Amino acid sequence: MKFVGAHVSAAGGVDQAVLRAHELEATAFALFTKNQRQWRAAPLAEDVIERFKAACEQFGYSSNQILPHDSFLINLGHPVDEALEKSREAFVDELQRCEQLGLSLLNFHPGSHLMQIDEDKCLAKIAESVNIALDKTQGVTAVIENTAGQGSNLGFRFEHLAAIIDGVEDKSRIGVCIDTCHAFAAGYDLRTQESCEQTFKHFSDVVGFQYLRGMHLNDAKSAFNSRVDRHHSLGEGNIGKVPFSYIMSDARFDNIPLILETVNPDIWAEEIAWLKSQQNAKGDEAAA
Ligand SMILES: [Zn+2]
Ligand SMILES: [Zn+2]
Repeated sequence: MKFVGAHVSAAGGVDQAVLRAHELEATAFALFTKNQRQWRAAPLAEDVIERFKAACEQFGYSSNQILPHDSFLINLGHPVDEALEKSREAFVDELQRCEQLGLSLLNFHPGSHLMQIDEDKCLAKIAESVNIALDKTQGVTAVIENTAGQGSNLGFRFEHLAAIIDGVEDKSRIGVCIDTCHAFAAGYDLRTQESCEQTFKHFSDVVGFQYLRGMHLNDAKSAFNSRVDRHHSLGEGNIGKVPFSYIMSDARFDNIPLILETVNPDIWAEEIAWLKSQQNAKGDEAAA
């Protein structure tokens, strides 16, 4: 089964995100469980939690179709102890909010060294942050997102993801989410069938598909290998539509949330419908 959707707004309460996903005829969705630009948020109210769970039940979303995303402020590899501590606390809070909502995944950006420590040390700090957070929570898998490598953000090489996984003790609760725009901007080509084969072969060798818990499906305004993170609508950017058809017709991407973070929410319903139409497209071509 392919689960396809978008990162929908949770304005008005997290339960509203479920309704928005349903309106898009999405079979997956992503959301923030709190304002992503603020450190603090009020705890989730009991009635909101109940409404969220009821809506998921009503519209047929189980936890493996939902990919919540943590706050942009969190840096689990922060070089300064006090700031690292603040990020670690906020990350535990994010995991706890997922627990309360009955969710099993939490997507996060690995972290930044801010030019103050070397890459390996930063990756070790991130793994340690994940260990601490997993220890304090239950049932939620921490899902590392690959990055475009803007500024001092780590996670732009598959080796970074592998190094973090390596440092996490509970391998059953660590996973990765691959963002196509970020991969492309970081120098992993996806423009042709052959480059998709190559990039995902490399991913398979370095990280392994057993850790793949989600995908972000974005075309790129940014150029190949530019290390700049600018999303675009599918087929309108520098990547083109090839990898999205490729992903939709490849069983290695089954049963995980495939999430649009494309720039025009007005066409999300169309993009989702198009993605669904690409399932088994490869098989059909072969049969024709
Ligand atoms: Zn993303
Ligand atoms: Zn991005």
